[in-house]
This record gives sequence, structure tokens and C-alpha cells, in this order.
Amino acid sequence: MSRIAYVNGRYMRHDLAHVHVEDRGYQFSDGVYEVAAVFAGRVIDEEPHLDRLERSLRELKMDLPIPRGALKLVTREVLRRNRVRDGMVYLQVTRGAATRDHPFPEDAEGAVVLTARSVQWPETAEADRGAEVVSIPDGRWGRCDVKSVSLLPNVLAKQEAREQGAYEAWFVDPQGRVTEGSSTNAWIVDDAGRVVTRDLESNILGGITRQTVIRLAREAGIEVVERAFTLAEAQAAPEAFLTSTTSFVRAIVRIDGQPVGNGEPGPVTLRLRDLYLTHCRGGRRNR
Ligand code: PMP
Repeated sequence: MSRIAYVNGRYMRHDLAHVHVEDRGYQFSDGVYEVAAVFAGRVIDEEPHLDRLERSLRELKMDLPIPRGALKLVTREVLRRNRVRDGMVYLQVTRGAATRDHPFPEDAEGAVVLTARSVQWPETAEADRGAEVVSIPDGRWGRCDVKSVSLLPNVLAKQEAREQGAYEAWFVDPQGRVTEGSSTNAWIVDDAGRVVTRDLESNILGGITRQTVIRLAREAGIEVVERAFTLAEAQAAPEAFLTSTTSFVRAIVRIDGQPVGNGEPGPVTLRLRDLYLTHCRGGRRNR
């Protein structure tokens, strides 16, 4: 079965799908995206993902090129045509194709691309073993709250992590405080068992998984504090973990080669991972 992509109103064979060479996403990174997980045929946290997409578009002074309801129908259709029950859906909106010139074109139509693929989600012991992260200076622009397709610093950071044998890179600001990972949000557990993650006022992406985990933690009676923490604090913390749409909740067991806690995933992390997986399996819905 060949994969199918949705491109500007048409369903096309994935290997033949393309956008114009003067698409502004390609030339200027003038576009935004979303990634949502699919679990047993259900798009996880679809509404919050679409809310964030619309927010990102507003920041770029763009409208959603097709109505939100239609976008959901297209998502269902792309999942169906690709026979995805467990996997992920990728959605990208750019300002469209126009003669290359920096100001917004007057007549370009926004370009919408949707793809989906099957993924066997990491519900296994392998994911429970935890990940290593390395730190890297955060040299990104000041609008990391926008889910822009401009991901070059993130790509370079992730590559650096892989070359050092690590799963993720943590960006660190000039004050030595962790902002977030290259494609994940960063968390620690403090000595009092509180869960700590960076606040949204400090140039990070508001992760949908972050938002859901904060809610699930609070509902389970676990205190959550949104504040900055230093790399040293994370290395001395009893637990650290990361969250994202495709990594769920994953323990961090080493930071720059230093073991976190006893070097094994900790109980608070595993509890949150469990709560999040229950949420994905339909245990609870965001709305
Ligand atoms: N931070 C960055 C920089 C990211 O790219 C991502 C993944 N899109 C996240 C955090 C996690 O966000 P989410 O939970 O919505 O996947």
C-alpha cells in the first residue's frame, strides 16, 4: 500500500507529493506546524493541538486556510487512507507560493500539507529505561512560543545529542537555566516531590503534552511548579524527565554524563508516564 499525503486540497501519493519551489515555507520558513499522536485510532489532544496551531498562525498574521472542522475531516481521511491506528499526524501550514520577496504577498493562498504514518508507540521496557541528555547553549530567537517550521537550531542540537550518544539536547540560557529540549519540554522532581518545569513566559514552546501532564499531575495530587531550574539543580535532583507528543513522558537518567538520582527512572516520573498513557488510551479526555 502506498502512503497518501494531503496537499492543498488533494490526496496524492506520498512519494510524488510536492509543493511549489517558491513556497514561502521552503524559502523563508514562513509557516507553522503541529504533530499529534494517534492511539487506537484516536487523535490525542486534538483540540489543544488545533488551538495551538491557530495561535501560531495568529502570531504570523495568517488565517487557517481551511475551516477547523474541515481540517479534522481531512485528518480522519489521511489516517484512514494510510491505515494508521497507532502513529502520528503531521500538519503544516505556510503562507503559500509567491514570487520571492520578504513582505507578505497580497495574493498567495496558504498551503496546507497533512501526512500520517504508523508508529509503534514506546510502551515497552526500553522506553522505561530512561534517556540521556546533553546540554547546549540556547541561541534561538525570542519567539519559541510559535511552533514555526524554522527548526535549524533544534536540528543542530538534536544532531549534537545523537553524536554524543544521547537521546535529547537540553537548551540552557545564559543564566545557566534549562529552557527546554530540542523537541521536548524539560522537567525535574525536587526534594519535596514537587514536579518542576519552566514557565511559559520564558521563550519556550507550550507543549501540549506539558499542558496535559500538568493537569494529570494536579488531579493526582502531585504539586506542579512552573519555574526555571539550573542545569546543576537538575543534575542534583532525585528525578528528571522530558515530555512530548512522540516521547510521551520519558525519564532522564543522565545529564551531561552525570547520573540523575540513582541513575534509574524514578517513581514520580513512572507514575506520570502511567497517567499519561492512560490518558492516551482514552482513560480521560482533555475536553
Ligand atoms: N519544545 C519543542 C521545541 C518542541 O519542538 C516540542 C515538540 N513539538 C515540544 C517542546 C513538545 O511539545 P508537544 O508536547 O506539544 O509535542
